[in-house]
Amino acid sequence: MNTTGWICCQPLPANFPMDSPFGKFLSLGYYDGTTSGVSECSNCSSLFRYKLVAWDSGQDMRIYSIASLPPSSFESIVKLLTAVEEPRWPFWRPKLSPLTGSEMSSLGAAIDAELSNAKLPTHVVAAEHLDKRILAGRELSATGLGMLPKDHYPGFADWDFWRTYLALDQLEGRRGDSSESVD
Ligand SMILES: [Zn+2]
Repeated sequence: MNTTGWICCQPLPANFPMDSPFGKFLSLGYYDGTTSGVSECSNCSSLFRYKLVAWDSGQDMRIYSIASLPPSSFESIVKLLTAVEEPRWPFWRPKLSPLTGSEMSSLGAAIDAELSNAKLPTHVVAAEHLDKRILAGRELSATGLGMLPKDHYPGFADWDFWRTYLALDQLEGRRGDSSESVD
């Protein structure tokens, strides 16, 4: 296969899309779809912190950064959350409804402390459903690293940068080609 690098143990294909390597999700941020959390590779069980980097104006196409997370940090987060509610795999989005505001903020601080053990992000990937298909992806360059948003929710200002960075226009072109052949 013609690869352009690797994401976890899986080759990045020259022609996307690829099947998502991520099969298990702990979603810690959610806005009409997951925005941040921890995902596990279905092939080798490595763990990654993912975070929304950019989204299109419809918030359907989402670009996430991917950073390696030690298994012990994931286990600690799961333990913290399991004390509040029953896990629901393969996609667990804790609601934490029984918690008071102050309980919620101390839990949030404990989770953030574990997430801070993640390494620097190594990849960005584009997906509409991160658990299904990766529509584009690449290893982060120094320029890409410098463009990662500092806030929780990115604005739309950097969308053009990331669309170009991941060559999403080419992807849309290929989609156009395939729909023409239906005629
Ligand atoms: Zn893997």
